[in-house]
Amino acid sequence: MSDRILPMQSTMQDEQMSLATLLEYGTGWHGDATVATWSDTGTRRITFSDLGREAARLANALRSLGVKPGDRVATFMWNNTEHMTAYAGIPAMGAVLHTLNIRLFPEQATFIANHAADKVIIADHSVLPQLNAALPGMTTVRHIVVTNGDPAGVDAPHGVEVHDYRQLLDAQPDSYAWPDIDERAAAAACYTSGTTGDPKGVVYSHRSIWLHSLQVCASYGMGVSPTDTVLPIVPMFHAMSWGIPYATLMAGASVVMPDRFLQPEYVLRLLAEERPTFAAAVPAVWIGVLQRLDAVPQDISHLRHVVVGGSAVPPSLMRAFSERHGVDIIQAWGMTEISPLATLAWAPRGADADEAWRYRYTQGRFLPGIRARLVDADDRLVPPDGESLGEIEIRGPWATASYYTPDESKPVGADKFDDGWLRTGDIGKVTPNGYLTLVDRSKDVIKSGGEWISSVDLENEVMAHPDVLEAAAIGIPDAKWDERPLVAVVVREGAAPSVAALREHLATKFAKWQIPDSWSFVDAVPKTSVGKFDKKVLRARYADGGLVVVGADGSV
Ligand code: ADP
Repeated sequence: MSDRILPMQSTMQDEQMSLATLLEYGTGWHGDATVATWSDTGTRRITFSDLGREAARLANALRSLGVKPGDRVATFMWNNTEHMTAYAGIPAMGAVLHTLNIRLFPEQATFIANHAADKVIIADHSVLPQLNAALPGMTTVRHIVVTNGDPAGVDAPHGVEVHDYRQLLDAQPDSYAWPDIDERAAAAACYTSGTTGDPKGVVYSHRSIWLHSLQVCASYGMGVSPTDTVLPIVPMFHAMSWGIPYATLMAGASVVMPDRFLQPEYVLRLLAEERPTFAAAVPAVWIGVLQRLDAVPQDISHLRHVVVGGSAVPPSLMRAFSERHGVDIIQAWGMTEISPLATLAWAPRGADADEAWRYRYTQGRFLPGIRARLVDADDRLVPPDGESLGEIEIRGPWATASYYTPDESKPVGADKFDDGWLRTGDIGKVTPNGYLTLVDRSKDVIKSGGEWISSVDLENEVMAHPDVLEAAAIGIPDAKWDERPLVAVVVREGAAPSVAALREHLATKFAKWQIPDSWSFVDAVPKTSVGKFDKKVLRARYADGGLVVVGADGSV
């Protein structure tokens, strides 16, 4: 695209896309929508009108603690009503909602809170042990507000005040004069979970969140509408729960939160009791749900569709949900840096059944506003011809232009940007009609004899074997070929596939040299804090001799 031009001013109002406006809209016109928090002992439910009053109480409470516009207020919480209140109230008062990941190592949580200079942390009582482990090193935190339990559980360092959320809010007025906020102001911050190194901060603006929410609601996005009951299983501390909480305010959709009940048996009970029409989670969650669902059948056809992403969705999983349980999985691709949505895999007009599946196996079509290009290893652009591979680079109104850098003398991730484009670190190809197929993350692709083997392709195909529950592929060092693939396999209960059978299963889809000669049968694939295969841990385990490796001939 050429340089930006502005030949004539328009007559349009300069009304700002602020989350205060979104809060007033959702909790006003859609006041009868509800936020529910499920637990194994019952569901708590409030209306959006109540949510508006709670958000006002929270804003008043935070102001009474000295929080000013621009200050960072962190959350250390599950997906629940109080977290939704924080999403609604904190940016609307002009402060910055910082979603801290409760599953990080304490040192990482400390690093992130200090880097973001969090002033207040709102923490769920059930995660106080994790918070206590991280708190001593946090230098900027002045207040801890505890939800859903006794605040006495906080080991507060000197100078840190502890409050009971309910008591604090009950003492506040239930209205707030929400400010007129510049749409380019920071609204929320999220750090990448560090799958690829030190956590890096992304700071979303009111405008970027507003525009992203429109995409979540759009028919070509997640299609969240006023008739929906939405179940976001993807955590609100990870990539803003894929933008779903704000989309529910925009659409006036009811929302049901799973709190800490994320195991398949609980998810299925929640589905039976609340009958949501839409849900979103990473593949690992759906793999667990499917296993239980196949064992103990249950009607889940109340789900209009579910959106799955965060890592590659195995085609076998999509088929199983569609063919055995009547629910379509729509794959999405994105990253924290892109708010996170960039593509969704709806089949295009005119595709016959087979073609539609092929499109749905891709990571999806780019959303309007997202511009993409492919760059090869020599920094040359490659065409979107459906074949040429390159690293995907992105521009867009809800893609970040940099990582949060409070101290210019300590630059953060400048190498992840290329002349205004975000380098995603994902390798893939793009069709002329805008569908992206990921081959791998650049650091996960297996480089064997100068050629590439996609770890994702291997995993998908191994997981398509009926005896296999989960499979993760990594490259292991090889003197002759540089790297060779190793697949760690979790087998289904009662099954015991041989290496020969698994290799034979791959033989129709892969060239001989691509078929792994090293296999390891494991109890579980290690996962990151957000439920992705943790290949860093798997590689380390291999290097330390912690994996029993079975060769192609079955020898150990
Ligand atoms: P991280 O895992 O680095 O902490 P994110 O949660 O933001 O950060 O993950 C973004 C990455 O997840 C993408 O760059 C991509 O590698 C992977 N990813 C997301 N969705 C998909 C998908 N549908 N298929 C394959 N990979 C995906």
